[in-house]
Amino acid sequence: MSAPRPPSDASPAHDVLVVGAGLAGLACARRLLDGGLRPLLLEASSRPGGRVATDDVQGFRLDRGFSVLLTSYAEARAQLDFDALDLRPFAKGALVRVDGRFVRLADPFAHPAAIPATLGAPVGGLDDKWRVAWLARRLRADVPDVPTLELLEHLRFSPRMIEAFLRPFLGGVFLERGLTTSARKLAFVWRHFASGRAAIPADGMDAIPRSLAAALPPERLLTGARVVAVRDGAVALADGRTFAAPTVVLAVDAPSAASLLGQGRSPPMRRVRCLQFDAPHAPPVGNWLVLDGEGRGPVNDLVVPTLLSPGLAPPGRHIVSTTVLDELAPSGEALERAVRAQMRDWFGEEVSAWRLLRALDLPAALPAQDAGACPDGDGDVAEPRPGLLVCGDHLGLASIDAALRSGRLAAERALARTARVEPAAR
Ligand SMILES: Cc1cc2nc3c(=O)[nH]c(=O)nc-3n(C[C@H](O)[C@H](O)[C@H](O)COP(=O)(O)OP(=O)(O)OC[C@H]3O[C@@H](n4cnc5c(N)ncnc54)[C@H](O)[C@@H]3O)c2cc1C
Repeated sequence: MSAPRPPSDASPAHDVLVVGAGLAGLACARRLLDGGLRPLLLEASSRPGGRVATDDVQGFRLDRGFSVLLTSYAEARAQLDFDALDLRPFAKGALVRVDGRFVRLADPFAHPAAIPATLGAPVGGLDDKWRVAWLARRLRADVPDVPTLELLEHLRFSPRMIEAFLRPFLGGVFLERGLTTSARKLAFVWRHFASGRAAIPADGMDAIPRSLAAALPPERLLTGARVVAVRDGAVALADGRTFAAPTVVLAVDAPSAASLLGQGRSPPMRRVRCLQFDAPHAPPVGNWLVLDGEGRGPVNDLVVPTLLSPGLAPPGRHIVSTTVLDELAPSGEALERAVRAQMRDWFGEEVSAWRLLRALDLPAALPAQDAGACPDGDGDVAEPRPGLLVCGDHLGLASIDAALRSGRLAAERALARTARVEPAAR
């Protein structure tokens, strides 16, 4: 029998161990460094970024699922350099597939030229469109923690407006079409869509974590380091190594946090599937989000990111990224056939020339934040034991912004703790 391995903390001196290098962990490590502490980030996978990822697939830069940065996110504005990210904005509104054709529903404040088309679109009545235009104002006051669908009905949106526009639009954001997600999240999301733009960095979403990681000295980030146990002031890795520091920050996703904290039940997560195609010609959708207003599926929404940033694909090619939310949709080749059939109905025979680049299945994309189980805030931090902090998107209204804010707040808590503990230790 081999002897037990000794503590193997051969890394440079550190004051705080940060477990997980998603946006929360990266934001935390950066703030710790700025505050004069020495963090060590321990990341299980081979790269920082967590759920915000872009992969190189056969010359295409494919985001790991469709996601956007909202330019009005306050924390993102403070922590990221938007100019360096070279953000490419989507139009404000959507192209909605209804009654066998596409109609445009545009934000009248951002696209006044599209007002006549929007008013004429057979998606709800004029009163519905008025309510959509002013929804951000209605959601400014305290919003009750009820299912989003209940609030929309209370606000007297017609069934047609809900089915053709609000359900696919919000479903694509919440990653569930039942609209059981708390109306608190609706308020958060809608305010940001109304006051900013949804955008992607020109080089793909992973430009965001890459920009954060670039500010860290390389010795402060250890990849391939899966933490399997957390004790007071120490963590153990799957490969047997151990690390110690006065403060440990768990910046992992909700299920990993529950498991490392020994909490029995794994928190429910939303699943999403995404089929990404190489197309010789882009479908004529411009920089608009396309929604399935007919509810036939399986595709809920679609974007063509190369129409915002051509460099994401080899010259003359396009990426078509489709999102499937329907849990009952088939999988494998049957799903691809169903997606292609829907796309042929939308765009005609040119779809036969599309080549599937990859089919992603992300079973734990977002924490389920249903009414009654939804945090009330933009991103917070928890301290289950002295010296052990927990941060991540699940501590706020789950989003890029919540993760960044929660990570920064965890660092500030650790800095305050160090300031308290150190004089006493001297
Ligand atoms: C498909 C999709 C679409 C999205 N769309 C949007 C959008 O449009 N707008 C928006 O604002 N947000 C969106 N989000 C949500 C947003 O990406 C997340 O809320 C945010 O990135 C979460 O960051 P995090 O740091 O809290 O967690 P994570 O990104 O999950 O990071 C946690 C990290 O911890 C690591 N880890 C886990 N366990 C261990 C362990 N035991 N040891 C060491 N490391 C560990 C993981 O590998 C990971 O790197 C989307 C998410 C997905 C998946």
